[in-house]
Amino acid sequence: MHKYIIMGVQGCGKGTQAKMLREDFELVHISVGDIFRWNIQEHTKLAARINRIISAGKLVPDDIVEEIIRKRLEDHDWNYGFILDGFPRNARQSEFFLESYDIDAVIHIDVPDKLVMKRVRSRRLCSHCGLDYNLIHRRPAVPDTCDVCGGRLERRKDDNEQALRERLRNYHNKTAPVLDLFRRKELVLNVDGSGTVEEVQNEIRKRISLPISEYVEASA
Ligand code: AMP
Repeated sequence: MHKYIIMGVQGCGKGTQAKMLREDFELVHISVGDIFRWNIQEHTKLAARINRIISAGKLVPDDIVEEIIRKRLEDHDWNYGFILDGFPRNARQSEFFLESYDIDAVIHIDVPDKLVMKRVRSRRLCSHCGLDYNLIHRRPAVPDTCDVCGGRLERRKDDNEQALRERLRNYHNKTAPVLDLFRRKELVLNVDGSGTVEEVQNEIRKRISLPISEYVEASA
C-alpha cells in the first residue's frame, strides 16, 4: 500500500505525473481540481457554489474541500494506495488530513514560477474527455482537437492571467508553508520538474523506489 501526496505550483505537471503513476501502480488518483471540474461540467448543485471561486483562481472554502476528501477516501477503493493531487493546500487542510491518515511521502515537483507561467499559457484541456495537452510539448495531431475523442480543446477557465497570478500568490502564501511542515516531518521528496514529462516521471519513481517502466526508461 502506497500513500502519496503530490504538490507543486500550478502547471508544474503534478496531474500528469500522478496519472502516470496511477496507471502503472494501480494507485487511486484523487484530484480535488478534477472533481470540481467534473461538477462544473455536469452543472451539479456544488458547481453553483464553486464556479466563480475557481474561475477567479481563489481557494474553495475548506469545509467543501474536506467533505470531498472525506467522502472520496471513505470509498475505500484504494487497495494499493492513493495519490492525492492538489490537497492539502493550506494549514487547516493538512491538519484535517493528518488527523485521520498517514502518508509515505510528499512528492514536491519543483518548477520556477516563470516556467509554469509559460506552461499554463500553452495548456489545453479536452472539453469532452478532459485529456490534457500542451501546445509546446504535447500537441494534438489536429489543431484544437482531442486525439482520443475528437472533442474541442479549450483553455481552463482559471488559466487566465488574473487567476494565474492569484493562484501563484495562494501557492506561495498558503501552500508553501504546508510543504515546510511536511519537510520538518522528513516526508518531502524534491523533484526537479523542469525536464520532460518522462524525465520527471523517471526521477519520481527513483525517489520513491518504484520500478521504472520500460517506456519511461526508453525515453529518458
Ligand atoms: P487544480 O486542478 O489542482 O489546479 O485546482 C483547480 C482549482 O480548484 C484551484 O485553483 C482551486 O480553486 C480549487 N481547488 C483545488 N484543490 C483545492 C484545495 N485543496 N483547496 C481549495 N481549493 C482547491
